[in-house]
Amino acid sequence: MLSLDLSEEHWLYSNVFCAICGTAFWRHPCEEWAGKVVLLTEHDSSELPPIAGWTAKHESKRGAQVLEWPAVITEGSRCQLVHGEASVNAYSDWDLSQNFPVHEACLELAKQIIQVRSKNRDSTKKTHPRQVTSVSDLFEVLMARRSTWDWGITEKLDAPHNYYLPREYYVHNIYYDRECLTKEEKDVLEADPLDIPDLVESLISCLQPLPQRSHENLSAFRVQFQRRIESLPAELFLSVLDYLYPLKIDSSECTRLLSPSIWKGMLLNGQIIPFLSDLDSTDFEQELLNCSCPAELDYERLVRQLTQVAPKLNMALLPDLSVGLRNRIRIWKLVQEMYVGDYGDWYNKCMSGTI
Ligand SMILES: [Zn+2]
Repeated sequence: MLSLDLSEEHWLYSNVFCAICGTAFWRHPCEEWAGKVVLLTEHDSSELPPIAGWTAKHESKRGAQVLEWPAVITEGSRCQLVHGEASVNAYSDWDLSQNFPVHEACLELAKQIIQVRSKNRDSTKKTHPRQVTSVSDLFEVLMARRSTWDWGITEKLDAPHNYYLPREYYVHNIYYDRECLTKEEKDVLEADPLDIPDLVESLISCLQPLPQRSHENLSAFRVQFQRRIESLPAELFLSVLDYLYPLKIDSSECTRLLSPSIWKGMLLNGQIIPFLSDLDSTDFEQELLNCSCPAELDYERLVRQLTQVAPKLNMALLPDLSVGLRNRIRIWKLVQEMYVGDYGDWYNKCMSGTI
């Protein structure tokens, strides 16, 4: 974590914010994750000449192309494109009429979610019919939010999941206004969500000893249930787990229906909790041996708590959690809950007084 004095902060932070996670980009030159910017922009090649320098392209809903364009933030709300001399205004420009700057890391996390969804064989798990299943969908979500936005109401979009789109032209963000954040909250928002060197140590430090009563108080039904589940052939058991993928738990209340080893398997599985796909089970086991942890640990509680970390910065839950992982989960959930028209739905409910 970088430690900055106020003069450095003033130099470092731009007034342009990521359209996915809502936090500020760091100015160029900056090798940190928060300085790596991709401009998502739409380009109609039937009307305009090809643009050199894009790294990927996706078909947009209007028959044009959504481009990923590496960019750096220079001054004001200008995005200087890395390839070529072009300089465009973040969020709108005369030449590139619709564009959204995002952290490279946030776009990567969005792509991981899209990949998880493409593997999900059970379509009934779709939380919303217009949720993000491609980069083009992501672009449409941002477009829809922008067009719903109204000068007359507010520059903050605190719905549907505490996401705030920066105000156009006078780019400003209320929720992540640094003046309003505690040091702990700033640490989370500034932490690299992809490269988390203390991932394993942090998770192990969040593990609590398994309460002894959880064994003693097991009803006959639960004991029988556990035995049956654990006696399943490995292939069948993996099929059962497949139905959990990705894991969605609505309660932090431990049921103790499954044994700690099964919950540990879910933690290390790499698919059940998709935002932990880079958790190395060998490193985890080695670190367990190195630390002075109790023999029996409460994996069910940890897995449940990890799925309850909300987009809003709730620092009380899992206080020992790595700041990078907390930021990753925050961004993951922001993308996971997005859908085309989400802000419009919220706005209409607000106007009709239903929320
Ligand atoms: Zn971001």
